[in-house]
Amino acid sequence: MEIFSEEQIASLISRGVSWVTEQRRIHRPDARPFHDAERKFLEPFWNRDFLDRVRVKEVEKIEIPPDLAAVLLPGFIGITFGDTILLRRSTSNVHFHENIHVAQFDILGVQRFVDAFARGLMSGLTYNENPLERQALELGRRFMENPNVPFDAYETVKSGLLK
Ligand SMILES: [Zn+2]
Repeated sequence: MEIFSEEQIASLISRGVSWVTEQRRIHRPDARPFHDAERKFLEPFWNRDFLDRVRVKEVEKIEIPPDLAAVLLPGFIGITFGDTILLRRSTSNVHFHENIHVAQFDILGVQRFVDAFARGLMSGLTYNENPLERQALELGRRFMENPNVPFDAYETVKSGLLK
């Protein structure tokens, strides 16, 4: 893993923040709300207002700008820009996982989300070990293993982040 200077980290973070903001603006207008059939699986875990705000858009390919590709994984199934999710595959497990990222964005704000993600990656953690991704994977696993045992996912994300 490359060692990054504070200056490089700061520039990467500001680049990341603009990218997230721009992608949300581009994709949100033609992204759709969850269908009723999809919501059925999510409703025991997420409140109505939250589910109303999220938009999803199915795409063939998720484009990562070259300057950010170095720190992101190729071959994402989904990626979240604030409250807007791009998906290559629409399943309830992917929806749940990306909703965790929507909640993280909501609680932290774009700046702190990108900052936390970038610093995790640049401290030498692998993509899946970075704290925001780990939280999404852990709670996603909890959903997958027990889709019939509801919990308040938003509050669980929040208390995990404030720890
Ligand atoms: Zn993720």
